[in-house]
Amino acid sequence: MNDYLDDSVSSLRLAVFLSVFLLLALFELLFPRRKLAESKVQRWSANIAISVVNTILVRVTLPLAGVGMALLAQEKNWGLINLLDVPAWLAIPVFLLLFDLAIYWQHRLFHKVPLLWRLHRMHHTDLDYDVTTGNRFHPASILLSAVIKIGLVVVLGPSPVTILVAEIVLNITSMFNHSNIDIPAKIDRFLRFFIVTPDMHRIHHSVNGAEHNRNFGFNFPWWDRLFDTYLDQPAMQQQTMDIGIDGFRTDRSINPISLLLQPFQK
Ligand SMILES: [Zn+2]
Repeated sequence: MNDYLDDSVSSLRLAVFLSVFLLLALFELLFPRRKLAESKVQRWSANIAISVVNTILVRVTLPLAGVGMALLAQEKNWGLINLLDVPAWLAIPVFLLLFDLAIYWQHRLFHKVPLLWRLHRMHHTDLDYDVTTGNRFHPASILLSAVIKIGLVVVLGPSPVTILVAEIVLNITSMFNHSNIDIPAKIDRFLRFFIVTPDMHRIHHSVNGAEHNRNFGFNFPWWDRLFDTYLDQPAMQQQTMDIGIDGFRTDRSINPISLLLQPFQK
């Protein structure tokens, strides 16, 4: 049963991931926001290799992590949603909201604590910003996020479907808000009421320290406004602002191995 569930959940995730990835990649080609500074073939090979490593690693070490724990929580009646018997139609948006809030604070923690920053830094050393950046996370940070997520499932007790929806939504929005798509300013302004847009999150990838510590939100844009970390526009133009981390901008040799070793670099 669990193997069957594991396969179906993984296939569904992969199908959604690939469809959204290809769609965004096509839009990036047709309507690019910025000219890429690096060789796309080299960057994409490295970033995609890292995503593949992450997918395999999570499947091997924590198969069915969130969904599996949600099943167990349901069986044992753990977590607020199970205890309060929240109806499914309400549980999904409520969990999505709380899950995103937790990720906002997790993201801030990853920037604040030096050891965690070393793990998260690899996501920020990408010198361009596109759909592949949205999946470029160090495997150690991916594992740590998975463990935090399992803890969250125990505390909140979402149903397996709820956590699956939340995971898929988060993967889609992460690829969307890292994409290099030119969205007209008026539409961007409207979208920012509900969702983190590429222009909003790109500011978080600026080399400028004051901008880099802004716009931590991943899915909903509200947390940054609520906790006073929102920045509307960068000092430079979106098209010309520098992206990356000082000290990691001169080494142009991009390959998956050097990316994996980055946390050990000063
Ligand atoms: Zn960050």
